[in-house]
Amino acid sequence: MPSIERADWYAIRRAQSTRPSTYTCPLCGRLLPAMSEHVLITPLGDGRRRRHAHTACAARARRAGRLPSRDEWRAAQPRSPGILARLKGWRP
Ligand SMILES: [Zn+2]
Repeated sequence: MPSIERADWYAIRRAQSTRPSTYTCPLCGRLLPAMSEHVLITPLGDGRRRRHAHTACAARARRAGRLPSRDEWRAAQPRSPGILARLKGWRP
């Protein structure tokens, strides 16, 4: 079963390579010619872990909530006072 690495959030951007190589889409397992328009999915923005995927597959996964963006992930985190807010109330 094809799958993409689990991560809290993913950076997704359009990609199109001029290299005549072929990737395997991690979302559907089908082949993906590098020269076709597709997307790069990068778990946690870590470029070493990026995967090439079909644009349609990424869009479907996004709609299913499987590829949250960094902003979406942040918005879902419980709010805690930041370090600056905590220091403001601090008295020696
Ligand atoms: Zn695909």
